[in-house]
Amino acid sequence: MAEIDMTEESGQPIKDGEYGVFNNMNNAIDAAYIAQKKYMKQPMAFRSKLISAMRAFMLKKENMEVICQMAVEETGMGNYEHKLLKHELATTKTPGVEDLVSEAFAGDHGLTLIEHSPFGVIGAVSPSTNPNETVICNSIGMLAAGNTVIFAPHPSAKTTSALTIKLLNKAIMEVGGPENLIVTTASPSIESANIMFTSDKITMLCATGGPGVVKIVLKSGKKAIGAGAGNPPALVDETADIEKAAKDIIDGCCFDNNLPCIAEKEVVVVEQVADDLVANMKKNGAYELTDAAKIKELEELVIPGGRLSRDYVGRDAKTILKGIGIDADPTVRVIIMETSKDHTFAVEELMMPVLPIIRVENIAEGINVAVDLERGNRHTAIMHSTNVNNLNEMAKRVQTTIFVKNGPSYAGIGVGGEGYTTFTIAGPTGEGLTSARTFTRKRRCVLVNQLSDTEAAFHYTTFAENY
Ligand code: NAD
Repeated sequence: MAEIDMTEESGQPIKDGEYGVFNNMNNAIDAAYIAQKKYMKQPMAFRSKLISAMRAFMLKKENMEVICQMAVEETGMGNYEHKLLKHELATTKTPGVEDLVSEAFAGDHGLTLIEHSPFGVIGAVSPSTNPNETVICNSIGMLAAGNTVIFAPHPSAKTTSALTIKLLNKAIMEVGGPENLIVTTASPSIESANIMFTSDKITMLCATGGPGVVKIVLKSGKKAIGAGAGNPPALVDETADIEKAAKDIIDGCCFDNNLPCIAEKEVVVVEQVADDLVANMKKNGAYELTDAAKIKELEELVIPGGRLSRDYVGRDAKTILKGIGIDADPTVRVIIMETSKDHTFAVEELMMPVLPIIRVENIAEGINVAVDLERGNRHTAIMHSTNVNNLNEMAKRVQTTIFVKNGPSYAGIGVGGEGYTTFTIAGPTGEGLTSARTFTRKRRCVLVNQLSDTEAAFHYTTFAENY
């Protein structure tokens, strides 16, 4: 059996199953199943204590730095400084037990409560693009809801994912929490994920990844949450603050080298302001490709034979430009070019700082093109406009889970915008920005003719009438 690729601070190898990392998926599932039976008997205050400890441990500078450095090195994708921000965001802004708010109905016939109960054991698939953030975010939400979780991480991020799980378990155990609330396998594969998808001990599946894995979990016969791919358009009309729009689009597009599923993937701009927008994008670190031959060369580099090259996903603009023989300044953050609306760069989810710009005659055409390019993912769209009617029309037409107006895309997950964060945005299955309550079953608890003030008032009236 392969040794787990991780060492303790002492330099000793970690034993099978220690800190939640198992050599075998079946053993991981059994451990999480046993742990959940005990965990669900614990009070809310216990869950809260564990989650506070997880947050504090994940925010330790040395832990953040090691994990984020490892994520960049292992996957070869993303930007270290941005990964630190994403890691901090997941740790601090993912809701905990406070998200589980019961509903109450009180009246003549007593009191009815709608309460949130755990699903049990959740199997969670996590992506290579946000490996540590997804593990942290899902662990906080799923444990807050009283579940235990088994992760099937992307094989190309297995060490980062395992280290994150190990550290979360350490944090839990240091404050007296049990083992195996969060588990995984040291060598994740399609086969080990399939064991997870079919295990009778798992009651819910949550897939954060591309369309393939979302389809698989939806066919599983279990309660499934699908957080799939996006292709977010940024639509700009003639009423927008163009300087701000240009800066926001570049800031959002280059964040973590465009890995986030919410990041701007193409721009649709009304002709009247298109030149101004491009000029302002260039002032904010955009490099414009105007030579058709170079644009073709770039296409052949990043989508050879029509398939997205993993060698360029999540790479920075300078590295990508080098691939087509352009030695750009390190201040270049995004590569832009004008394309048709049918160009592969616009249609495919590239996940790299390559941003096609599509000119349209007017806002009506702009909305049509942006809606088409979102491709029914119902994920994220961004719009820059000061015309409420235009904003409203786009919101109604595009029907995305996140719609950011007049800001960079990441405002949609709580960076510079209001609201909590998540790294699992469930468009296809409709849970939206997932949080602890997403990972619960709703239960109705009915007490008849008691514990209601209205009922007490009824008795008082009867008493007063009799005397
Ligand atoms: P990916 O689809 O290649 O992998 C995601 C996960 O699914 C991995 O753990 C992988 O091992 C697993 N997987 C893939 N195919 C599988 C199969 N046939 N059987 C079992 N498991 C399988 O995605 P990725 O490149 O790691 O992540 C990027 C994709 O995820 C993008 O499309 C992005 O938009 C999407 N994403 C969505 C969200 C969201 O919240 N909606 C968040 C992050 C990423």
